[in-house]
Amino acid sequence: MNCRELLEEHEVFALVGKVAAELQQPAYVIGGFVRDYLLKRPSKDIDIVCVGSGIALAERVAAAAGVHVSVFKNFGTAMLRLGEWEVEFVGARRESYNRNSRKPIVEDGTLEDDQNRRDFTINALAISLNQADWGELLDPFEGVKDLRRKIIRTPLDPKITFSDDPLRMMRAIRFAAQLNFDIAPDTFDAIIEQAERLQIISAERIMDELNKIILSPKPSYGFKLLFHARLLHQFFPEMVALQGVETRDGHTHKDNFYHTLQVLDNVAEMSPDLWLRWAAILHDIAKPPTKRFDARVGWTFHGHEDRGARMVPHLFRRMKLPMDHKMKFVQKLVRLHLRPIALVKDVVTDSAVRRLLYEAGDDIDPLMKLCRADITSKDDNRVKRYLRNFDKVEQKLQEVEEKDQVRNFQPPVTGEEIMAAFALKPSRVVGDIKDAIKEAILEGKIPNQREAAWNLMLELAREKGLQLHQG
Ligand code: ATP
Repeated sequence: MNCRELLEEHEVFALVGKVAAELQQPAYVIGGFVRDYLLKRPSKDIDIVCVGSGIALAERVAAAAGVHVSVFKNFGTAMLRLGEWEVEFVGARRESYNRNSRKPIVEDGTLEDDQNRRDFTINALAISLNQADWGELLDPFEGVKDLRRKIIRTPLDPKITFSDDPLRMMRAIRFAAQLNFDIAPDTFDAIIEQAERLQIISAERIMDELNKIILSPKPSYGFKLLFHARLLHQFFPEMVALQGVETRDGHTHKDNFYHTLQVLDNVAEMSPDLWLRWAAILHDIAKPPTKRFDARVGWTFHGHEDRGARMVPHLFRRMKLPMDHKMKFVQKLVRLHLRPIALVKDVVTDSAVRRLLYEAGDDIDPLMKLCRADITSKDDNRVKRYLRNFDKVEQKLQEVEEKDQVRNFQPPVTGEEIMAAFALKPSRVVGDIKDAIKEAILEGKIPNQREAAWNLMLELAREKGLQLHQG
């Protein structure tokens, strides 16, 4: 196959080809860019591999184009930007692994050596930038056939490929999820066999791949592969524990693993947000540790939302996910995920709605998305009924918010003002008055307005025997 057309689309390639010829260093476009071009997926990262020094080639290309080049000496790579393209250069290399060490022995090599060290047949495709065979697709492992058949397969013996670098097992599933491909049976068997070797990979690198799986169009697919390969067991046993059903006295609870995956897919259809997707993954994470059997009502999971929220920081820390506002967001959604459902079932009072608005703040919209996604009954009519009820709740939320504006609640009387009014130092009584005012607003006893709050403050102070400070 010849890909001249692609090379003519972007002047980058002609330039690299020209400079490579001058240096007598054969050069090729390789890897993800070629794969994505053949799949018609947009891609802005171009990888160039050349025989000899990738840094020398990059420096000459940068000089010819008049752009800056970043050199990473330790890795033998260099990167430059040409317009919207990010182009990375590396010299072709041969890698050999020693069973006892994860670090390969790296030597200079040929294009073939370099293709041999690639993880999957579809990632080993190269296009020549050399005059003799300009545009020729070099496909030693039938990668194009695998693209057509939609298959992830390693170029060499999968057992060796995965043992050499166990991260490739995560990558196999990540590509399957992103591209909606199958994994070849012998490749998948090798993953099952080597799953435990994932333990030698850092949490950060595992999470990079996992987050890409979570961001794929139908994340449940990737999770099912992770589960069946027993990779999930290596880094996320709490999620594995969601799997399974139990029956006692005719009561069966649902399989919370598959339920969670359904919620995750539902959320993925509504939003591209990674952290909302994480909230879906974790919303029922404490169901296994809170599961009880009660002879009268069957299975219960009381308090799983609070327990789950408490688990979130631990899980994030262990999995090296960010400990900042993103974690807090996930934690908040896990903690509140049953609240809107409670508003569907009961007679909805304004105060319950106000409390939810106050606690959810600006995250009320993603919370409602999660709750809608959480309805996974097989009974379509029931789902429809619940969703209609949610419409009502949302309308109510809007009405109450317009009236009372508690979503970004700021106390109408501040602690400083209370201290000044009664000549108080920071103390418990100040906090008590502030809390009582907040409670009165949330309960609807007074409106969310300054005058009403001030009057209530005076009343509370009188009860506590405080004197208004003059002056
Ligand atoms: P994406 O940009 O979607 O992540 P990509 O294929 O470009 O896809 P990179 O991680 O940037 O992914 O890797 C670039 C290329 O380097 C791959 O196409 C593959 O040929 C090779 N590669 C990356 N990681 C490995 C690995 N662990 N083992 C073998 N080859 C790898």
